[in-house]
Amino acid sequence: MWNEIKSNISSALVYFREFILFLILVVLIIFLLIDNTSLSVPLIILLIVVGIIVLNLIGRRRIKEIDEIKEIISSIRLSKYESSSEIFLSKHLDALENEIKQMFEKTKNDIEYLERLQKMRSQFLANVSHELRTPIFAIQGYIETLLNGALNDPKVNKHFLGKAELHTVNLSNLLNDLIDISMIESGEMRMSYRYFDINEFIKNIVSEFSLIAEEKNVQLIFNPANIGLQVFGDKERLRQVFVNLIQNAIKYTDSGSVEIGYEEEKKFVNIIVKDTGIGIPQEDIDRIFERFYRVDKARSKAVGGTGLGLAIVKHIIDAHSSKIFVESVLGEGSKFSFKLKK
Ligand code: ADP
Repeated sequence: MWNEIKSNISSALVYFREFILFLILVVLIIFLLIDNTSLSVPLIILLIVVGIIVLNLIGRRRIKEIDEIKEIISSIRLSKYESSSEIFLSKHLDALENEIKQMFEKTKNDIEYLERLQKMRSQFLANVSHELRTPIFAIQGYIETLLNGALNDPKVNKHFLGKAELHTVNLSNLLNDLIDISMIESGEMRMSYRYFDINEFIKNIVSEFSLIAEEKNVQLIFNPANIGLQVFGDKERLRQVFVNLIQNAIKYTDSGSVEIGYEEEKKFVNIIVKDTGIGIPQEDIDRIFERFYRVDKARSKAVGGTGLGLAIVKHIIDAHSSKIFVESVLGEGSKFSFKLKK
């Protein structure tokens, strides 16, 4: 009991200065009001006793409050709370309770975000290893077969070398896309925005693909509308976007056409890449921009896809403060579009 009183009083002593000031004030009032000095001494003694009792009560309250706060902090540290609604302090500590709740929510969100990031990183690493393994194993297999005698068999040697070469191309595409995506995601990609002629730009890219489209019997169409039209963006990065979209459109179209066009709006140009290809199932549309997500894995790999193209496209379009849209009907074709500033 004495120990408790001692610790209460020592806790309340943080208000010692205020307490002494109060005592001096009361003593002065007593001296001023009471002429009878013989009464003032017991009154002062009484005042000191009352003071000590009050100090004890204040100390006890203070210790209780500190204990409450300590208990909450240690419960947060030991992850005892599921949600901030479990955190309670005395009524008069409402403001503090709110602050602790907000801090708890923020820490909880930060931890969840870091955990998600960590999971994504591990998943990405697992995907990368898996993607690298496929072409490396294939190349290894062809070389082994050739070394074990196939090299001298004119019927298969060229075929195997051709296959091995195809896998080295895939490997190199994958490495290039990986370098791009890691640069973009680590924020190292420097953007350089300027105005450029959109018709010249598209015409150049389209001409690069004309042979591939012709070989697949796919008609590649681009009809420049407004000659001399300028758009604002990072030309090199947008080249990657167009190349990926046109490449995909040709890759996933067996017959028909791939059309590149644009519609002019007041302040923007809406770029459209449309094909008459295999289309994308509705349930996959939201996922095709994820890294390594493929609707048809076998087909993507057979046509040399890395599964990273659209993820890179999305990042670049985002960096232009724009958004990429997809509309697709299975078996009929797909339409990708995004806006650029004029
Ligand atoms: P990939 O290298 O596999 O083509 P992308 O990131 O470029 O990877 O595309 C992701 C997936 O989206 C592809 O695997 C494919 O299933 C689908 N896809 C992309 N473009 C088209 C398209 N024009 N038509 C049909 N499917 C497409």
